[in-house]
Amino acid sequence: MLFSDFGFDERILNSIRHLGFDDATDVQMKAIPEAMAGRDLLVSSKTGSGKTLAYLIPALHRVYRVKALSKRDARVLILAPTRELAKQVFSQLRLLTAGSKLKSTLILGGENFNEQHKALQKNPHFIVATPGRLVDHLTQRNLFLDGLELLILDEADRMLDLGFAEQLKILDAAAGHRLRQTLFFSATLDNTEIHDVAQLLLNEPSRVSVGSSTDEHTDIKQHFYLCDDLGHKEIILSKLLTQDGIKQVIVFTATRVDTIRLSELLTVQGFSAEALNGDLSQSARNKVMDSFARGHFDFLVSTDLAARGLDIANVSHVVNFDIPKYAEEYVHRTGRTGRAGFQGEAYSLVGPKDWYNFKALETFLTRQFDFEVISGLEAKFKGLAPKKNNAKSRQSIKKTEKEPTVTQKKQRQPDKTKFHTNKQDGFEPFALPKKKSKGIPLDDSE
Ligand code: ADP
Ligand code: MG
Repeated sequence: MLFSDFGFDERILNSIRHLGFDDATDVQMKAIPEAMAGRDLLVSSKTGSGKTLAYLIPALHRVYRVKALSKRDARVLILAPTRELAKQVFSQLRLLTAGSKLKSTLILGGENFNEQHKALQKNPHFIVATPGRLVDHLTQRNLFLDGLELLILDEADRMLDLGFAEQLKILDAAAGHRLRQTLFFSATLDNTEIHDVAQLLLNEPSRVSVGSSTDEHTDIKQHFYLCDDLGHKEIILSKLLTQDGIKQVIVFTATRVDTIRLSELLTVQGFSAEALNGDLSQSARNKVMDSFARGHFDFLVSTDLAARGLDIANVSHVVNFDIPKYAEEYVHRTGRTGRAGFQGEAYSLVGPKDWYNFKALETFLTRQFDFEVISGLEAKFKGLAPKKNNAKSRQSIKKTEKEPTVTQKKQRQPDKTKFHTNKQDGFEPFALPKKKSKGIPLDDSE
């Protein structure tokens, strides 16, 4: 379907033309009319399928065509779990609003609080934010959300994790009038049941799902290698990175320390590599991401900080140096390649410590993966004996539960999905604003 067939405001069509897009993607085709009809939505479609425009376009249409509830308050609030993703969404929004009178601002932890306060005083129509810092501004009364018309959660399943729940409740209460529309987007939202925080935010939502999060992503070729230990993994990694056809690579590791160690190791071996993790200062994080996006180096070694949402055109390969604990994160990590119809490859290294996470991943994706072998680098490790109940995913509780009795079913309304509570790198954690000296805000970064 052509963008020109939707009946958008002409200014939106012009902006889309500037982006060079004619046809809407499947998720845009399905979600945009539903969103324009004013419904609350849970939208799910594979990584790299254009979800950002699927919410930015209806948001823009509303702001252009519908009279504002308030002249002062922001009309649209978009929340993302990492600063890097919020920045990316903000730049896409800026492209769409270029040349218009619409104002937008970006509110992130780790950046100057007073400058954000000044930007908020200009009454932006759009705010893109990570939740922690936004709640800080709200509690300082730098911001009011009484006039908010549209609340959008990108990577919504991640945003519903308990680390963000309190912040979402505060934001919801501040924008509590009935006219608000709320949209959830993620590549792994389709199986997620609505737990209590989501229920608080959403009002009779419709589901829009294009495919399933467990479907094979046909643009991402997946390869798995057995490894004996860390040293063996490192040798296999260097071998994989010297193959033909590699442009840029994101190597995901489980810990922050590993990002440093591995990037140093790769640098010594002659690869142009840098580390990204939540221990870095915000300016260092910005510098690493900017230079990677500009192609100044080819190998980014990152924690899950870079797992969600980032759209970098030249990422031809993703490596999982470790298998993530939560199977959904595998879908997001590998989804940093193979975007917008391009082909990508994902390599995953499976050692003894990864084995049960790997089996959980197979359970989640309902597939069995074969292992490939690099000649001369065969592993002695062949897997571990099955462990009971190894499925670790946000949906695992649902899958492993016994069928409830009728009375249990009644008592259990509403059914809840278990969201994990551990702090994961890169995601803005919840921290109640502590006492502030001289009004200087706390940084809400880790
Ligand atoms: P998702 O959020 O689903 O992972 P993104 O919104 O980040 O995907 O979009 C992935 C890529 O596809 C981006 O580079 C974006 O510019 C591009 N894209 C979005 N919509 C279209 C379209 N209609 N036609 C072609 N490319 C598009
Ligand atoms: Mg996205």
